[in-house]
Amino acid sequence: MPEALQNLIRVLARLPGIGRRSAERMAYRLVLRNRDLIRDLQLALDRAGKELTICGRCGNLTAVGEDPCRICTDSRRDPTFLCVVEGAPDIQILEQARAFHGHYFCLQGKISPQSRETVTTDTLNHLRQRIRDDGVKEVLVALDSDVESDATAAMLVESLAPLGLKISRLAFGIPAGSGLAYSDPETLGRALTGRQKLG
Ligand SMILES: [Zn+2]
Repeated sequence: MPEALQNLIRVLARLPGIGRRSAERMAYRLVLRNRDLIRDLQLALDRAGKELTICGRCGNLTAVGEDPCRICTDSRRDPTFLCVVEGAPDIQILEQARAFHGHYFCLQGKISPQSRETVTTDTLNHLRQRIRDDGVKEVLVALDSDVESDATAAMLVESLAPLGLKISRLAFGIPAGSGLAYSDPETLGRALTGRQKLG
């Protein structure tokens, strides 16, 4: 196999959710039948790398030169109502549902004993700082319904309790394993209206 092809397969296999076999199929397909897509991918990746950055306030993706992001600087939104999510894609889901009009904060992960994933002390300190600076009155925990999310929510309650504010969580109900990514706008709206107080 030519080295350039091996290299392409190695890089594709590093994409989330792509195994070695899928990477091979993708590589052959791209090179044999989809030269236009190779060029479009090159341009799109190059642009994304150059033009996108992470908002220093909420952790959302934003355009370079727009940090804080448009959500953080929108004066019509309520900065005292803070929604804590696992990552930037969750912000996109909630925004599409038009269910929430406060501000956001990304944990950039959640607690998972299996994968040793965790929420860093830096992130928690940043969150506490945001709460103090913005006079946050309610923190809405918008995580999925799984074991890791439950552990993360419990940690947040313990960590934020001394600040004496209301902490609530989206109410997805049963079945476990449901969550943001699987919910339509109506379900998200109901989960927000029926949010449950924690702690
Ligand atoms: Zn932001």
